[in-house]
Amino acid sequence: MTRPRFWLVVPAAGTGRRLGAELPKQYREIGGRCMLAHALQAFADWGKLAGTVLAIDDGDRWFAGIGGQLPLPVRTVAGGVERMHSVTNAVQALQGDAGEDDWVLVHDAARPCLCTDDLHRLIESTATDGVGGLLATRLTDALKKAHDDNGQARVLSTIDRDGLWQAMTPQVFPYGLLRPALEAAHKAGKALADEAAAMELAGHQPLLVEGRRDNIKVTRPADLALAEAILAGHGRG
Ligand code: C5P
Repeated sequence: MTRPRFWLVVPAAGTGRRLGAELPKQYREIGGRCMLAHALQAFADWGKLAGTVLAIDDGDRWFAGIGGQLPLPVRTVAGGVERMHSVTNAVQALQGDAGEDDWVLVHDAARPCLCTDDLHRLIESTATDGVGGLLATRLTDALKKAHDDNGQARVLSTIDRDGLWQAMTPQVFPYGLLRPALEAAHKAGKALADEAAAMELAGHQPLLVEGRRDNIKVTRPADLALAEAILAGHGRG
């Protein structure tokens, strides 16, 4: 029997509006390298990928200029309107290459601070699990539900954080389960927050693997400086 292989899918078709610049965030530089290159680094260090598919926007004018910076060979496909469409396009592009028992890792281009330790732990923890799982952190702060009060946020209630986790990427699932789960969710017109949500809709219970809290998603302008400090702390700045 052949050993299952690992494929990487990277949604990188966002426009990064919340970062407030024309250049999409995955192409913003942190310590002299673009965020996308940082996001791929842990996978390059791991060195066991069968291949990588990157979903980029149809009108992307920047990817061609950064190809040489990437630590891994990648193939590109067109992204979609929402993140989940981009992920689905990239997963579907694995048809003919990926076997049903192969694993698909999905990692956001906007998470540049992933450590190889976390990647290893995710893969080891899910290796003997038929469903797969995701890196996540337990919520530690008090959670408030807010309502809009003349443009200001005002507390409506406090949410019990017991049993609540914050989902991150990478997430890893068998190709033979993930692809039909994504396709079924799209067919049903469900909006999906992540791949795990597609698996949940299909009746699975993905494993939560506790990861580092500094595997942040760069969303707002201040996150760029934070990511730079985290990467410098990792010796990758
Ligand atoms: O917008 P957000 O920060 O949630 O995006 C998470 C990831 O999904 C980013 O890497 C972004 O490039 C990607 N994305 C995508 N296609 C979209 C929207 C976001 O690939 N239509």
